[in-house]
Amino acid sequence: MEVKTSRARRTFNVIVEPTADCNLGCAYCYKGAQKSNFVLGMEVLRQMAIGALRYAADHDFACEFIWHGGEPTLAGSSYFRDAFRIIEDLSGDVTVSHSLQTNGTLLTPELLDVLATAHVQLGIGLDSAQPSYHDQSRPSVDRQSSHARIVSGLRSARSKGIDVGVLMSITEANAHMVEEMFNFCRQEGVRLGLNPSVPT
Ligand code: SF4
Repeated sequence: MEVKTSRARRTFNVIVEPTADCNLGCAYCYKGAQKSNFVLGMEVLRQMAIGALRYAADHDFACEFIWHGGEPTLAGSSYFRDAFRIIEDLSGDVTVSHSLQTNGTLLTPELLDVLATAHVQLGIGLDSAQPSYHDQSRPSVDRQSSHARIVSGLRSARSKGIDVGVLMSITEANAHMVEEMFNFCRQEGVRLGLNPSVPT
């Protein structure tokens, strides 16, 4: 995928939710009963991209597509391959970038190849370098550990040259572990963002 050099001084952000479904059951999840396995259709996405890119072009903005959820990677690698191609084909002179916020449990090699090709910036939720603390707040829907899959996904993404940032949601249980997470992220070569959360 071509990378354009942007002269735009401002960026128009578009948040896209391919699905509201999720395979984790985080203690502080704001989705609650809104979770559903509905998947955003390609034609709706195309129409949305047309509108967003036209607006960005008219105002001389760059355009960032922020892929969010639920868990967006549940849509699968072919969904993102098609979506990125549609947006690229519509982009014209607008500089487009993509970021994706994920729980990091479903980062298959196929999906990571698609994300790497589109230069997607990845944000991965991880609440502690220690599984026992992380799994208190971010277990799977059936209350199993998610920690090992996330760390493995994070390392696979880095090995493909993807820009990764970790997002740590701070609760009473892990608030004392920020420095440990900082050291973990430094070792892994990823950025750390902090997100204050309270259990619902
Ligand atoms: S990863 Fe956690 S916070 Fe995000 S949608 Fe899934 S359950 Fe909610």
